[in-house]
Amino acid sequence: MNGALFAAGLGGAAALGLSLRFNWWRPKRSGTPILMHHQIGPHRPGSPLNRWRVTERDFGWQLDTLVRLKYGGVALRDLVETPPAARRVVLTFDDGYRGVREKALPALLARGFTATVFVVTDRIGGVNNWDGETPGEPLLTADEIRTLHGAGIEIGSHGATHRALTQLGAADLAREVAGSKETLERITGAPVTSFCYPYGDFDDRVVEAVRNAGYRAATVIRGGIPKDLSDPFRLKRVAVRGTHTRLDFLLALTRGRSRL
Ligand SMILES: [Zn+2]
Repeated sequence: MNGALFAAGLGGAAALGLSLRFNWWRPKRSGTPILMHHQIGPHRPGSPLNRWRVTERDFGWQLDTLVRLKYGGVALRDLVETPPAARRVVLTFDDGYRGVREKALPALLARGFTATVFVVTDRIGGVNNWDGETPGEPLLTADEIRTLHGAGIEIGSHGATHRALTQLGAADLAREVAGSKETLERITGAPVTSFCYPYGDFDDRVVEAVRNAGYRAATVIRGGIPKDLSDPFRLKRVAVRGTHTRLDFLLALTRGRSRL
C-alpha cells in the first residue's frame, strides 16, 4: 500500500484519482480470469489502435508474471467443459492477427501455455479492414491457423466479417455464426465450440443463434472476472492493453480491473 500512502501525501485529488484508477479496496476475485489480447507486435507511431497492440517484450513479462504467480493456461473450451480446480487463466486473442502465430505462439509454448484465438473467417489471409487504419494489420492464413491448432491452441470464431451481430437479419446472422464455424472446422478438421461477439455486441437473439449453432461458450468484452461458469455464453473478460504497466496487468489479472 506504499503507493496509496504516497498518493495521500500528494493531496486529496491525486489520491482520489489513483484510488479510482486502481480500486484498491476491491477484493480479489476467485474465478478464472479470461484475458483479452489482440495483436502482439510493435506499436505504430501515433496510432490510436496501439491500445490493442501489446509488444512482444510486454507479452513476455506478462507471461512470466503468470508463471511466477503459478497460473496455468487453459483454453476456453476446456474451461467450460471441465472447470479447473487449480489456478488457471484463459488467454484469448481477438481478430486472429499474424502476430499471434509469429510472436505469441513461441512465447506461449516456451512457458507451457495454451490459448484461444478468435478468427474472422472472411478475412483469413487478409487484413483487419474493419478498423479503418491503412495499411491494415495482416491476419492469419489458413496454414497458420492449422499450425496454431496443431500446436494445441484452440481456434474459435469471431464471425465471418466482424460485423455487429445485433444489427443483422436471420440469414446474415446464420452466416456469421454457423457459417464461420463450418469454415474453421473445414480448416482445422476439428470441432469449433468457442465464439467471440465482435465489438462485444450481443443480445438474447444472438446468444440463441450462437448456442443453436453448436457452440459451447462465448465471450463478451465487458470487463471483469466471471464468478462462475453458469452463463457460458456471456463470459466476461479483462482487456490487456498496449499501455499496461506491470501494476495494471496485475490488477487486471487478480481484480478484473481494466479500462477498455
Ligand atoms: Zn474483434
